[in-house]
Amino acid sequence: MSKHYDLIAIGAGSGGLSVAERAARYGKRCAVIESGKLGGTCVNVGCVPKKVMWYGAEIAHSLEMAGDYGFDVSTNGFDWAELVAKREHYIDGINTWYHSYLSDSDIDEIKGHASFVDAHTLQVGDETYTADHIVISTGGRPVKPDVPGSELGIDSDGFFALDEKPGRVAVVGAGYIAVEVAGVMNALGCDVSLYLRKQHFLRSFDAMLREGLMEQMIKDGVSIFPSTQVGSVVEENGKLTLICDKGSRTEGIDQIIWAIGRVPNSDGIALQNAGLEVDEQGYIKTDEYQNTEVEGVYAIGDVTGREQLTPVAIAAGRRLADRLFNNQPERRLDYENIASVIFSHPPIGTVGLSETEARLKHGDAVKIYQTRFTSMQYAFSERGVPTAMKLVTVGAKEKVVGCHILGPGADEMLQGFAVAIRMGATKQDLDDTVAIHPTSAEELVTMR
Ligand code: FAD
Ligand code: NDP
Repeated sequence: MSKHYDLIAIGAGSGGLSVAERAARYGKRCAVIESGKLGGTCVNVGCVPKKVMWYGAEIAHSLEMAGDYGFDVSTNGFDWAELVAKREHYIDGINTWYHSYLSDSDIDEIKGHASFVDAHTLQVGDETYTADHIVISTGGRPVKPDVPGSELGIDSDGFFALDEKPGRVAVVGAGYIAVEVAGVMNALGCDVSLYLRKQHFLRSFDAMLREGLMEQMIKDGVSIFPSTQVGSVVEENGKLTLICDKGSRTEGIDQIIWAIGRVPNSDGIALQNAGLEVDEQGYIKTDEYQNTEVEGVYAIGDVTGREQLTPVAIAAGRRLADRLFNNQPERRLDYENIASVIFSHPPIGTVGLSETEARLKHGDAVKIYQTRFTSMQYAFSERGVPTAMKLVTVGAKEKVVGCHILGPGADEMLQGFAVAIRMGATKQDLDDTVAIHPTSAEELVTMR
């Protein structure tokens, strides 16, 4: 006899945990099915371990500056293994907390790999479970390219599994992960090369951000190879050699890290038994309410191919539970103006339209406000990290439709501006806001 629930989430990552937690709060009988560790990508091999490494890297950069502020400091080394051990201990604590949280919330935790028997029945090992509502929140996984020897390299999961610091590293890719991993490893003392198949990284972001960041990464010692396609990898004398399209060879590499994107975990769950299909990239198709084409089956988070960010998966899950179980029929996630941060050095914070996107959409109605300066923090340091800010406005009222920041503190600065933009702020609203001095953020309300 199958156990029956009001709602089952397949996958206990950011999305699955959130939808089950909110539904349980409305008194619904819920379960999550998880084949790996509770917390999914974000907690185990994503945001959390990444941010720990980023903090470590920021400390390394601060130590470089300590002398400028009069400290007589010598750094006698950096213990990669110690940082990784502390990081994993911290993550174990989060995993443990989730187990008790689920049990305190009366949510059943089912361990194993789920696949559909039909639209309301799931198989996990020898057991079956049924539910009125099934939420697919299976996330995604990193991919390696289809080139000879790619298996010799690691992906972002492999990066987090490194328990010793590699000497020479090649990072291949041009998105969030490539930029973040390259920056962290460089700051922590690896010799890092970044291979881009096109001219730039972060191509979908505002040009000011990627240009400023690339300049700083090169100054900080990352070797960047634009327009270089990796053709194959071979192992020679215990080291790796990267052979690129134009015949160039880079020898003596300790680790190659592929950061070329992720694919959805929509295979291996027998979607066809539920009558579901995926799009050409394997994402599960949903409407704006997270409904799939089969009644009672929904999908949220990375498996849907929308903005692949933890707060997006969480927000979609919570809103879905509100809609299904709290009499809020119109409740859904608005995917516009979602802010995000790239944890580079310095970080990037961005929300809304880039200048290029705005000009394509609004033509001559666009007016740009832009500034670039060196924050006071670096006033007497040789490492003059740039801060660059851009406001993209539209129309006579100069409604702010984009805000882009590169610079120290950009990660923490952006959230409040994202609220203002969501509320429809104009340039005048920013001008009318009294500045906080002395900060970098004050430039955003004083730009001419
Ligand atoms: P996931 O968190 O991936 O959860 C899916 C879960 O489903 C997994 O635990 C998996 O084991 C399980 N599962 C899959 N198939 C099955 C099955 N058939 N049966 C049972 N269980 C199954 N986002 C940010 O907002 N900020 C960041 O700083 C950030 N940094 C990142 C850094 C890295 C290196 C990576 C890889 C991602 C990062 N992200 C970040 C993205 C963020 O981690 C994801 O957007 C988020 O985790 C997506 O949540 P999800 O619930 O859709 O999927
Ligand atoms: P992305 O999709 O962001 O970037 C991968 C990029 O790599 C592509 O855009 C492409 O850029 C390049 N690429 C693709 N194939 C190849 C290839 N064969 N050889 C060389 N380069 C290639 O993926 P990521 O893996 O970086 O990250 C996945 C998602 O996870 C992100 O989109 C983001 O949503 C999320 N994430 C969020 C973070 C945050 O919030 N801070 C941090 C990390 C991840 P091009 O076409 O320009 O070559």
